[in-house]
Amino acid sequence: MRPGHKRAKSSLGEQPALRAPKSDSSQADSSSRVTLREALEKAYDRQLKALVVHARQRAETPIEQRTPTQEWARENPVVRDTVQLSSWVYPEQDLIENRITRAKLMIMACDTANVPFEVSDFLRNSMLKPRKGAPIQPDVRRTAILALEEKRSDVKFSWRRFALKHCPCEKAEHDALCSEAIRKAARDLQALIRRLEIQY
Ligand SMILES: [Zn+2]
Repeated sequence: MRPGHKRAKSSLGEQPALRAPKSDSSQADSSSRVTLREALEKAYDRQLKALVVHARQRAETPIEQRTPTQEWARENPVVRDTVQLSSWVYPEQDLIENRITRAKLMIMACDTANVPFEVSDFLRNSMLKPRKGAPIQPDVRRTAILALEEKRSDVKFSWRRFALKHCPCEKAEHDALCSEAIRKAARDLQALIRRLEIQY
């Protein structure tokens, strides 16, 4: 048995508020060392802000010249990236049972920022829609964030060793499947980090 291995389930009552876009977060602070989590939160603020700008531009386009919302969202990676990033910043809210809450928070943030209804409605729907493939569990997401942090400062980093120490699963012995799951999640996150040029 591994004492203290099993994590307490976080209380659902404590949903972090969806962050409102801040005016001073246009650049990541690369001069001081930030944790990856902080960098992701900052990037999420920037994404939301960018999303609002895109949505407003669209709203100002005459209706007859506007592309349908779905097409608009497909052509704007900012929509996809915002939704993806939110699942790393708020992993709990990505669970099916919490998606409704997350979608509501998104609507609230959009309303505050005067995002046109059809756009916020589209975002809400895309958050509620089931994703392809098995969802990454919140614990695995958090562990993948930690893995990238450790990898950054440890030249001898080993996924297997990291999994033995940090894998959040319930198995008594962590095996290659554990390290693969963490590595795969970390790879997804790394791709997003590169795409959004997140510095940490
Ligand atoms: Zn495991």
